[in-house]
Order: sequence, then C-alpha cells, then structure tokens
Amino acid sequence: NLSGRLGNVVKTLRGNARLTESNVQDALRDVRMALLEADVALPVVKQFIADVKERALGQEVIGSLTPGQALIGVVYEELTKLMGAHNDALNLAAVPPAVILMAGLQGAGKTTTSGKLAKRLKEEHRKKVLLVSADVYRPAAIEQLKTLAAQLDVEWFPSDVTQRPVEIALAALDHAKRHFHDVLIVDTAGRLAIDEAMMAEIQALHAAIKPVETLFVVDAMQGQDAVNTAQAFGAALPLTGVVLTKMDGDARGGAALSVRHVTGKPIKFIGVGEKLTGLEPFYPDRVASRILDMGDVLSLIEDVQKTVDEAEALRMMKKVKSGKGFDLEDFKLQIQQMKKMGGMSALLDKLPGAGQLTELANNQASDKAVARIEGIINSMTPQERRKPELLKASRKRRIAAGAGVSVQEVNRLLNQFEQTQKMMKQFSKGGMAKMMRSMKG
Ligand code: GDP
Ligand code: MG
Repeated sequence: NLSGRLGNVVKTLRGNARLTESNVQDALRDVRMALLEADVALPVVKQFIADVKERALGQEVIGSLTPGQALIGVVYEELTKLMGAHNDALNLAAVPPAVILMAGLQGAGKTTTSGKLAKRLKEEHRKKVLLVSADVYRPAAIEQLKTLAAQLDVEWFPSDVTQRPVEIALAALDHAKRHFHDVLIVDTAGRLAIDEAMMAEIQALHAAIKPVETLFVVDAMQGQDAVNTAQAFGAALPLTGVVLTKMDGDARGGAALSVRHVTGKPIKFIGVGEKLTGLEPFYPDRVASRILDMGDVLSLIEDVQKTVDEAEALRMMKKVKSGKGFDLEDFKLQIQQMKKMGGMSALLDKLPGAGQLTELANNQASDKAVARIEGIINSMTPQERRKPELLKASRKRRIAAGAGVSVQEVNRLLNQFEQTQKMMKQFSKGGMAKMMRSMKG
C-alpha cells in the first residue's frame, strides 16, 4: 500500500548523509508508484519525478532528518507547489451581477456545487444571489436546482425544457441586473461523455453572458479520466478555476494534480459531501499530504495550536524530536495536553501510521487514568521524574505509598511511559518532526 511504499523510501535511504544519484533513483521509483496509485496521470508523474530528482540531488540532509525524509519533504513541497501553493478565491470583481458559469460532465456535481456556492456567497459574503438552470435536457435537473434554491432561501430564476440555454441565461442575466443581484450562477447541462454539441452549447453560453468565473466541475473519483475531460473543457473554454468534487470519497486526490497540470487553472474549491455545507476552499498542501498518505498533518497542527500553549508544546516536542530527555514530567504534561485536545485518539487519527497508538491513548486519556498518573508522578522527586531509571524497588514502594496506589500500578505507569517514549522516538522520525518545523515557522 501507499504508506508502506513511502515507508520504504525512508528505509531505502536510511543512513545516507546526502541524496545521491543512485539512492534517489531507487527511492523515486517508489514515489512514482505512489503517485500512480493516487491516480496522478502518467505524463504528469514523469515530469514531476524529473523535477524532483533534479532538485533533490546533492541536497544536504538537514538536522535530524534522514535522507528518506528529506526526499519526501522535497516531494511534498513540489506537489504543493504544482497544485498552486495557496488557495485562489473566487473573483467577483465585476460590475454586478458577477456571472459564474458552471461547466462539466453529467454527474460531476455542477448543480450541487451551484447550490453550495450560493450558500457560501449568501452566508459568508452577504451577496444577493440568483440561481438559474440552463439544463434543458432533463426536467429533473431544473427541479433539482429549484429545490436547492428553496432550501437556501436564494432566488431561483424559472426555466423549462422548451427554451434554448442561451435564451434562458440572457433572461436570467437581465432579471439579475434589474433586481440588483450581486451574483448570477448559471448551471448547465452535461453529457456522459464529451461531445461537440455540448461544447458548442457551452461556448455559446459563455459568449452570451461573459462570465467573470467559468468553473470546471470535475469528479475526483474519475481519476485518470478526469484528465481527458479537463483537457477538452480547457481547450473549449477560458476556464478561470476548477471545483474538484467528491473528495469525501476514497479518491486519493491525484486528480487534483493532473487537472491542475492539464488546465493550468487553480482549483478553487473541493466538494466534500452531498450536503450544501460540503464545500471547502482548496488547500494544495493538504491534498499533497493526502496524496502522500501523510495524514492530515496540517489540521493536526491547527488543533494543537488551538488548544495547547504553544511554547510549552514546542519545548516538549523539541525533546520528543531529539528522542532524548523525554521524561516523566513531559509524559504527565503530554497526557494533560492530549486530554485538552479532546482525547489522544482523535488527535492520533490524524497522524500518519498512528493506528497502533490509539489503543494506548484511549487507556491513558480517561479522566480517572489521568488523575492516577498525575498522582503517581507527583509523588516522585524532581530528580526521579527526570531520571526514571533511578526508580528501583524501594523508591517505587515509597511512591506507591505516597500516591495511595499499589507498586504494580507504579510499574504499569512506568511501562506506559517507556512505550510512549519509544513511540515518540519513532514519531520523531516521521510526523512529529514535520509538525515541529511547521510550528516554528
Ligand atoms: P451534475 O449532473 O453535474 O449537475 O451533478 P449533480 O450536482 O446532480 O451531482 C451528481 C451526484 O453527485 C449527486 O448525487 C450529488 O449528491 C453528488 N455529489 C455532488 N458533489 C458531491 C460531493 O462533493 N461529495 C459527494 N459525496 N457527492 C457529491
Ligand atoms: Mg445538474
């Protein structure tokens, strides 16, 4: 599987001080497979691997990073860059009404996304929105948009299957002007596959209403096919952006890379559910993590920043990162902080390869367990907390008596501590090191 492959990359390069032609070659073979499995199109993969290789060669391995991690770091950065590096917002800087034209195949999610955008524009940007459907091939499609508009309490402009799409769109535009709408969203018909009639129709629509945004809506689950569709739409229309839908499914996200590469247009939003709330701005770094199966490292960092005193966390993670000096005082702090963040398991789910930790976390994070651990650690001298190896039988008896627990419980805690310390060392080679760097700057 994918994380296994990337784990191999890290292993392959372990122990090397820098990235060289031969070790990079092997490791990149695994990266290449990982990308193909994530549904990135082959020509894109080839180009990408060539770029990464050029940049990675001769690269010094910084700090405590192993060459494998350094290479994954380069891959991650390049992936992010390829997808646009930052989020591009909708451009609505036009004389109102700003017109948004939705393009894409049938089933891509145009109608749903029209509704989601209307909601967003209404609620977050306080825009007066008008929705219209120019899908004259399926009466149900017009009804679908009408229903969404009613749910949102957004105005819907009537249309029916006897009309021509251009006629509908122009009438809606006229209405929007006269009633001072800020935004007009024009939903269109799609076919199951690209055909000339469909392209001609949407080109005519584009020419008639001169949209400020022409959004190409594409289903992320389509994987490789998304590339051909993107190519055809990109050639026919001056697209201004892409919406990648159904990212809540098990799409690996590779379509994002391919579509961006092929159209050269920014992905502005991703669809993450059938409901009207299921639309998010597209963040290239997050999708890069997803493609690399690194877990949602960035939202993890956000969680940490929200809840934990940052300086304290940094201090602790520095220790964790070094794998040394992670003592019982830190262990206590860590458990308290994880607790604040809503339980370790929720947090750990977001870290790559952290599944095995979840059980341990659950045991440690219950209120009673936290109190018990605190009690035992409080009964130790500062010196003992820093150097748990001092804890021989007589000291353990003293601590157990002080905390009102049995010696076995003290032993159990020390076991947990050692396990955590070990896992922290493993983590520090992966997710934690990355998290550290991001938190520093
Ligand atoms: P259209 O033919 O392009 O207008 O596509 P629709 O908007 O009718 O969507 C087709 C199907 O995909 C519907 O069942 C939607 O509920 C579903 N859909 C659209 N966007 C998303 C999404 O982001 N996530 C999920 N899970 N389903 C979606
Ligand atoms: Mg539709």
